[in-house]
Amino acid sequence: MIKFAPILLAIIYGLLMFRFSAWRTARELDARSTELADPKLAPLIKRMADSLDLHRIKVYIYEIDPVNGLAAPDGRIFITRGFYNKYRAGEVTAEEMASVIAHELGHVALGHSRRRMIDFSGQNALRTALAMVLSRFIPYVGAMIANSVMSLLMARLSRGDEYEADSYAAALLTKSGIGTGAQKSLFEKLEKLTQSNAGTMPAWLLSHPKTHERISAIEALERKWGLTGG
Ligand SMILES: [Zn+2]
Repeated sequence: MIKFAPILLAIIYGLLMFRFSAWRTARELDARSTELADPKLAPLIKRMADSLDLHRIKVYIYEIDPVNGLAAPDGRIFITRGFYNKYRAGEVTAEEMASVIAHELGHVALGHSRRRMIDFSGQNALRTALAMVLSRFIPYVGAMIANSVMSLLMARLSRGDEYEADSYAAALLTKSGIGTGAQKSLFEKLEKLTQSNAGTMPAWLLSHPKTHERISAIEALERKWGLTGG
């Protein structure tokens, strides 16, 4: 019995850390965000809300530099200040920003938020717990195995979610008359951004599948929906 106590403790620790990090993330978002009010984006967001029969879609600016969009577990949608600045500087169009919002709406609508919560903050806690458990059985190598297992698991979980959110966004953008073009052009822009400064890859791409594969997936949808001319 005594032998398993550390494992039990590690699991309890992992669960507590997960709860704590979820709470901390929500607090962090509350403290460092403001509602987005942009005259060019508002009509596009309104069109998407109308397509979804929603009264309105609230979008917030999260005051951090990395270029990213995110959906909180409570369903709120955030665009980072860094991303918004790119839009303000004219590097990203209003339609492209709308495509990010549509993608995050997809995560909310499809119920990915819990998994994404683990993505954002609980990952390290789970990794620690798993490393502690495995180290009991395989000293030294246990921690390394835990790391690889977690990375693979998270990548798998999030990749599936990204394609689903992309499809949702493609459908919503089509229905709203904004079109899928902005979705694809944004992927290409973000890819170039990573190539020009390899050291500072945007978080958006780090946690997301390969650009050309995402574009192909959207093009497959366009063909399915009969949107392409040839
Ligand atoms: Zn996503």
